[in-house]
Amino acid sequence: MTTMLLKSPLAGWVLPLDEVPDTVFAQGMAGDGVAIDATGNMLHAPCDGEIVPMQAAKHAITVRTPSGHDIMMHVGIDTVQLAGTGFETLVQPGAKVKSGQALLRFDLDLIARRAKSAVTPILLTSEGVILRRCESRLVCVGDFLLELAAVAGTSPVHSAATGPVHHLSRFFAVPFDHGLHARPAAQVAAALRPFGATVTLVSRGRTGNAKSTVATMSLGIHCGEVIEARAVGSDAAAALAALAGLLAPASGPTHTPSAASAAAKLRETSDTPVRIDAVVASRGAAVGIAVQLAEPEMAVVEQGVGLAHENAALHAAVGAARARLQRLADTAMGEQQAILAAHVELIQDPELADRAEAWLARGKSAGYAWRESVRSTIYALKELGDARMLERVADFRDLENQVLRALAGNDPDAVRTLPDRAILLADEILPSQLVALDKRRIAGICTARGGPTSHVAIIAAALGIPALVAAGSRVLAVDDGTALILDADHGVLYLAPTEAERAAMEHKLATRAARHVADVAAAQPDSESADRVRIKVYANLGGLAEAAYAMANGAEGCGLLRSEFLFLERHAPPDEDEQWREYQGIATALGKRPLTIRTLDIGGDKPIPYLPLPREDNPALGLRGLRTSLWQPALLRTQLRAILRVKPLDQCRILLPMVTDLDDIRTVQRIIDELRRELGIEKGPSLGAMIETPASALLADQLLREVDFLSIGTNDLSQYTLAMDRGHPELAGRLDALHPAVLRLIATAAEAANRHGKEIAVCGGLGSDTAAIPILIGLGVHEVSAVPATIPRIKRVIRSLDSTACRDLAQQALVCANANMVRALVERWTSAPTPASPGVTP
Ligand code: PEP
Ligand code: MG
Repeated sequence: MTTMLLKSPLAGWVLPLDEVPDTVFAQGMAGDGVAIDATGNMLHAPCDGEIVPMQAAKHAITVRTPSGHDIMMHVGIDTVQLAGTGFETLVQPGAKVKSGQALLRFDLDLIARRAKSAVTPILLTSEGVILRRCESRLVCVGDFLLELAAVAGTSPVHSAATGPVHHLSRFFAVPFDHGLHARPAAQVAAALRPFGATVTLVSRGRTGNAKSTVATMSLGIHCGEVIEARAVGSDAAAALAALAGLLAPASGPTHTPSAASAAAKLRETSDTPVRIDAVVASRGAAVGIAVQLAEPEMAVVEQGVGLAHENAALHAAVGAARARLQRLADTAMGEQQAILAAHVELIQDPELADRAEAWLARGKSAGYAWRESVRSTIYALKELGDARMLERVADFRDLENQVLRALAGNDPDAVRTLPDRAILLADEILPSQLVALDKRRIAGICTARGGPTSHVAIIAAALGIPALVAAGSRVLAVDDGTALILDADHGVLYLAPTEAERAAMEHKLATRAARHVADVAAAQPDSESADRVRIKVYANLGGLAEAAYAMANGAEGCGLLRSEFLFLERHAPPDEDEQWREYQGIATALGKRPLTIRTLDIGGDKPIPYLPLPREDNPALGLRGLRTSLWQPALLRTQLRAILRVKPLDQCRILLPMVTDLDDIRTVQRIIDELRRELGIEKGPSLGAMIETPASALLADQLLREVDFLSIGTNDLSQYTLAMDRGHPELAGRLDALHPAVLRLIATAAEAANRHGKEIAVCGGLGSDTAAIPILIGLGVHEVSAVPATIPRIKRVIRSLDSTACRDLAQQALVCANANMVRALVERWTSAPTPASPGVTP
């Protein structure tokens, strides 16, 4: 029998568990072990192992030993109510730790004053038995504490229930003040232990084994949250009944009126359709019917049947999933292609493979090993707390499912049959789920979570599917088949609209569709306003694959090539030749039209693995954009050399992201001059600065002494002006570039550009927003660079505008109090057409 020694993680007096002043711990519900009445203020690792993630539980840490034991150390009693105050975690979830390593610093005084006790249970929360224990004595850190033995193949004690297997589900509200933290999670596990059924808790799209205290804690379930419990087994009903003794039965889709029937009820008393407000991810509108996309979680057995067998199975499944992704990437286009290519890289990431192998070596099955490996990556991403990183979580969930499906032998290409005009509702939609669906039948998408910059939002926009995100969990309670109107122009999902409302929206959509056909047909001529002011309309591109589509839509050039797409999610940067091939390819595809290449906009909130950026407290205010390039000038030099080799060079413009002041420009100009001399080039391409910081907008007149043009990145300019993180789901609805504060900065920069006789463009999201076009023209902007699909519409709008009337409108917008007032002003202006603004309809 293999045994495992645990050393004391804390200095203090060791007590038997039954002396702990808390019945849950004292009765061993959370697991067997001992407790230490702490005298020190630092928790150390009791052995080598890995940190098991436990969301929002700063007062407790679990170490998983190489033998697969979970050791939970819960500092103090009732410390959950301190909500992390007085605790400083020194390790990340998923981190490998060494015996004796410091894990958690805590304020012992604070715990003594504000919590029930500083007694710290040290518990074995997984399978296994304690052979020996130290008790009733003083210990120092590192002294012997426990000896464990693994009991291979044990399962929780339960009555050997036989009979037919039931799959049951019930919803519960969590009544505990601090959610399902350690003690209630332990109570749940203890209550379920007598049953053979497996019970899975589902919270906000994540699942955990309800019989594992650690797994339940890791879900971070809040007080009042409604969770689903899924039980499978012959005694599933009894297991759920036992849960009902602890948790309050609650309404879920099967037990209570759904949102749709609630809508119907509401309709009896009101004429207003029930609405769910959300954040626009891809503009447009749709009439359709609800299709819940939830995929049941795939079951995996924990124990493997032999290392060689499981290893081979995992390799084969990862290989099959990788090959499929590669096939999809080879035939996809644009952003979709870039995302799939990134997934091909991710699925063969050595870190993921190493972690899975470590689990296989512990005797786990291929599916279990893969799931654990992916999930520890997900937890590590979540721990970063960065909104963009959180959006990448969906990508990893997707990879988890794909490999599990391959292991189960499911046909990965089986296309789910959707009804016509399906409006997909989901917690989140994984990129590969979207790829595998019949897009012709998808009328719209609305997700409970996600942000407007998530990959699925980008793909939806590229496919022209209207999409809403961050709608909240109410969308998950809408019955399949409910009639819906998705208004992704205004960020609203309407449930069970009346016939008249549906007909009105259908009419609007039909008019729009007919107009789009006409817009595309009229999109080729160069753009000018009704009073013949030339306004260039360029395209934002992510890579070569989109160039032809952009030109078919009337793009007069590329106003923003986001070159970072070429650098993301790979193991090494593209070399000079690879970059040159991409840039030259796009230049050639554009014919003689201008190509604006933005230098690498990376760092901070857009990390790349081969560029180890220092950890930053405020990544958005740290090394990003040009700052990262100047911090790693070798990358910038390679990129600039690749650009300088493009022929004809005067077709290219170089655009610098995240400029602050003239020093930035001068440094880059010096490098360009040096490279030009090296390459024997007499005249370099035009150089432009992005206006993305308030500083650069306010100093635009100075920048214009040294640059040839300006391009306003309204996405970042809004984030920095309004001090609202552009990836923050809670603030997404208020982050509107039509805010008068942002408009005033645009006005300042545009006024300076016009005074210097130099070009000023808008390449941020505002350039694709038809409501903004008259204001931008009125402020003196000469060029907009937009999402390719919106170009025909933008050109039509521009043709209908009179620049003098636009100037009046812009002046009124500048004195509005907020973005909503600006939008209302534009709406009034467009819906009361004058000779100056005929038909500026979206
Ligand atoms: C912007 O900030 O508006 C912009 C165009 O840059 P990105 O969205 O790529 O940061
Ligand atoms: Mg930007």
